[in-house]
Amino acid sequence: MAYDLILKGGHVIDASQNLDQPLDVAFAAGKVAAVGPNLAGDAHTSVRNVAGKYVTPGLIDLHTHVYWGGTSLGIDAEDFCRRSGVTTAIDTGSAGPGNFAGFRKHVIEPSQVRILAYLHVSFAGIFGFSKTIMVGESENIRLMAPREAAEVADANRDVIVGIKVRVGRHSSGDQGAAPLEMALQVAHEVGMPVMAHIDHPPPSYEQVVEMLRPGDVLTHAFRPFPNAPCNAQGTIKPVVLEARKRGVLFDIGHGMGSFAFKTARAMLANGFHPDTISSDVHALCIDGPAFDQVTTMSKFLCLGVPLRDVIKQSTLNAAFALKRPELGSLKVGSVGDATILSVKEGKFDYVDVVGEHLAGDRKICAEGVVIAGGWWHPPA
Ligand SMILES: [Zn+2]
Repeated sequence: MAYDLILKGGHVIDASQNLDQPLDVAFAAGKVAAVGPNLAGDAHTSVRNVAGKYVTPGLIDLHTHVYWGGTSLGIDAEDFCRRSGVTTAIDTGSAGPGNFAGFRKHVIEPSQVRILAYLHVSFAGIFGFSKTIMVGESENIRLMAPREAAEVADANRDVIVGIKVRVGRHSSGDQGAAPLEMALQVAHEVGMPVMAHIDHPPPSYEQVVEMLRPGDVLTHAFRPFPNAPCNAQGTIKPVVLEARKRGVLFDIGHGMGSFAFKTARAMLANGFHPDTISSDVHALCIDGPAFDQVTTMSKFLCLGVPLRDVIKQSTLNAAFALKRPELGSLKVGSVGDATILSVKEGKFDYVDVVGEHLAGDRKICAEGVVIAGGWWHPPA
């Protein structure tokens, strides 16, 4: 078999095949071509020695903002993916139906990394989010554009995976949960999931979670009080347990205000792990406290979640939420994306959004990225 690339001697962790062992991974024609011991190529095969490193399916960051230049909160997807080992960045609602065409043409299509998007139900997406201007795009009901959102989502099914909405005191003001109701109508119309953001009440965590359907995603799921999934005594709210039972997905979406160690500890102590780990990276949190995907993953590792679970929550589970089974896996025939990681031991300082510090003993670092069957970063 003529392989384009072989990753030799790495430790493969792939939840889709229950792999956690040293194996080679080979790519051909943009896809995973083989996973096994002692794979050999020919004169045309490029071989990378990744001994001592972990090889995982390409990391998926389920919550990012990468409409660089088109929205004030956008960051550069390729820069971010290099530093974080991410091969698929999911933009969550930076663009709405009024400005999605520019996002697609100027950012998504030229990008070397895969960008998929949840389309905001608000006409211009998250348009007023910066250090000096902060206007909730869900505050004014006149900006809600369900008909236009349904049209744009339907016309861009190759890159739009769902409908985004932000509700909470900072994002939907006096409108409460009304924008979520509209997002759900759009999602129903086009047959896609919703990703709902919550911040401070109203609406309450309970109210939002009760509205979500199987397959919908609640992001910022491990928020600090108020609107945390559990109380200060560590008891999980019953609606949260009921929602998980019916198939609602719980995503981290760290960001600058949406992840607290205290909440995470309480949830993990109850055996309630997030479905997906994501950074919610944007212009105001990329230099902390969120930083990136591997830092967010490292926080969970240091909170006691096993490495293989942290990786599963950033690969297989994210692909499930996206309904894109060809991603997040190293099964033969899957998209040829892989991430090379190392886990460094030492003393590392982690901080959450309320300023609590965690003295961590390990740090997950991105060491290399394979995209579409070719070595992408760092350059040869
Ligand atoms: Zn966000």
